[in-house]
Amino acid sequence: MSALLELNDIRRSYPSGDGDVEVLKGITLRVEAGEMVAIVGSSGSGKSTLMNIIGCLDKPTSGSYRVAGVDVAQLNSDELARLRREHFGFIFQRYHLLSHLNASQNVEVPAVYAGIPLAERHKRAQALLARLGLDARTGYRPSQLSGGQQQRVSIARALMNGGEVILADEPTGALDTHSGEEVMSTLKDLCARGHTVIIVTHDPDVAAQAGRIIEIRDGELISNPPPQGNGAQSTLETPAQKGASWRQLVSGFREALTMAWLAMAANKMRTLLTMLGIIIGIASVASIVIVGDAAQQMVLQDIRSIGTNTIDVYPGKDFGDDDPSTQQALKNDDLTAIASQPWVHSATPSVSKNLRLRYGNRDAAASVNGVSGQYFNVYGMDFSQGGPFNEEQLQSRAQVAVIDENTRRQLFPDKLNVVGEVVLVGNMPATIIGVAKDKQSMFGSSKVLRVWLPWSTVAGRISGQSWLNTITVRVKDGYESAEAEKQLTRLLELRHGKRDFFTYNMDELLKTAERTTRTLQLFLTLVAVISLLVGGIGVMNIMLVSVTERTREIGIRMAVGARASDVLQQFLIEAVLVCLVGGAIGVMLSLLIAFALQLVLTGWSIGFSPLALLTAFICSTLTGVLFGWLPARSASRLNPIDALARE
Ligand code: ADP
Ligand code: MG
Repeated sequence: MSALLELNDIRRSYPSGDGDVEVLKGITLRVEAGEMVAIVGSSGSGKSTLMNIIGCLDKPTSGSYRVAGVDVAQLNSDELARLRREHFGFIFQRYHLLSHLNASQNVEVPAVYAGIPLAERHKRAQALLARLGLDARTGYRPSQLSGGQQQRVSIARALMNGGEVILADEPTGALDTHSGEEVMSTLKDLCARGHTVIIVTHDPDVAAQAGRIIEIRDGELISNPPPQGNGAQSTLETPAQKGASWRQLVSGFREALTMAWLAMAANKMRTLLTMLGIIIGIASVASIVIVGDAAQQMVLQDIRSIGTNTIDVYPGKDFGDDDPSTQQALKNDDLTAIASQPWVHSATPSVSKNLRLRYGNRDAAASVNGVSGQYFNVYGMDFSQGGPFNEEQLQSRAQVAVIDENTRRQLFPDKLNVVGEVVLVGNMPATIIGVAKDKQSMFGSSKVLRVWLPWSTVAGRISGQSWLNTITVRVKDGYESAEAEKQLTRLLELRHGKRDFFTYNMDELLKTAERTTRTLQLFLTLVAVISLLVGGIGVMNIMLVSVTERTREIGIRMAVGARASDVLQQFLIEAVLVCLVGGAIGVMLSLLIAFALQLVLTGWSIGFSPLALLTAFICSTLTGVLFGWLPARSASRLNPIDALARE
């Protein structure tokens, strides 16, 4: 029959300045189930090194080690973690309890990694603590407990998942005589119940209480009595039933979440400073989504208000074409033909000329446009006084004019009501019949003075031209403007026999504006992403510091059976949590910014968009995962031995 623990010519050397230093020099040892073994030796003789190899926390440089017949060299790190979790229970000289957890929570840690449901593990922890006389102390933090009490908590932790083999490295080393005796009697009691107990000590009195004393000096066994196993099959309590794997996941997740929260709460100032980068990053991302959207809507609405269902027809090939042969391509007949099409709502011609305006002793340069009464409809313009000219005035080339507010201010600075006044347009007197309101737009209002006359008046009485500068067609609602543009082109091509005109659709302007705002938004998003990146690097930096600071905690967790993936998960969750909380604050900040902006920029409709919330959430999570990954991985790759050695 093979022994429970079987070490064969185990060697362990550490790299040192010049070559390796061999700390264990060929240890061969058998321990049978139910034994109580004391390993004694002076300080530095290699006791802890041997113990760590027995507990699968460390690997020998050479030699073989079998646990219940299984060669541990064949096991991967997860299987080793499982072995530690389910078969070994560690008791350390310095207790190694997690300081932010209370006694009961400390005892429960190995069960968390075994996936035992909360209620069940809590009950078991309470029972174990009660058995060790700590029923009144289950809610105390390690700092509120005496050394002896802390050591009993760590014994309870060792027993949590069964603790078939108890490994105690100088368990009484830091305790007073009385507490030390209590701990020893507890260990003897456990041995009597069937646990295999291995104690490391340099105290001969402590060693004397064990059935078998093994002596080590300078890495070699100098006394190794034969095993005293009673051969009895172990009467160990079976480990509590393992939960389903999803439960294990949920429980691990909850534990990691609690841990993350505790870690954040323990270092409030640092957490806040870490978050600051994320807060600023997320706030800028969310602001750009919220405000950028509102700005885009504003621009597009502005352009739509000019009228998107209009098509302009110009003579020539393109803007800037001054070929005299095509200058006169658009005629009055074209207008009549276009206006009679079923898809045309209205069509207005335009002839324009720059002329001087005079009233009394004032004069100013103005852009004079000959248009039809429909013009104001087509462009959605309102009147502050009077109104547009009618069909009759158009037919009779009436000398009437509509001016804009700029012109009114220029010519009639002290007069409010100007309808009925007569001004000179060039050399022609015209009666003002209306004042068109300023059109407020994002692009600011133009400073140009504008005057509108019936186009027939301009053509007949001022310029004498028989051709039109532009025809603006308003397409009936329900007609595709692209389709209308095609029809229009076909119609004019038929009439002219050639293509001596071109069309311009407002849709194109809209598309251009959309492209422009999108580019702008993209640029702003880039800035936001950069600030988020900087925030993420801050998180990564602090997390790396935190991993170093919490090396001992990581070591303890690994010693009681945490897998590398558990540690990875915990630190990742911490990073994501920091980013999510930072993100939430950032979203609130961006809402404040948005509402403040709304107070300043009237007319902007800034709403809370679920898109912003979603973006912020996704960005926070991604930042956390992305920048938490490196620290989390470095935590999970820590060697439990190195981690535990850190005090
Ligand atoms: P003990 O527990 O018997 O006091 P240890 O097993 O802790 O002794 O250490 C035995 C020897 O191994 C000591 O000389 C120590 O300096 C050396 N040692 C232990 N751990 C390391 C390590 N990680 N790197 C280098 N040397 C080590
Ligand atoms: Mg030691």
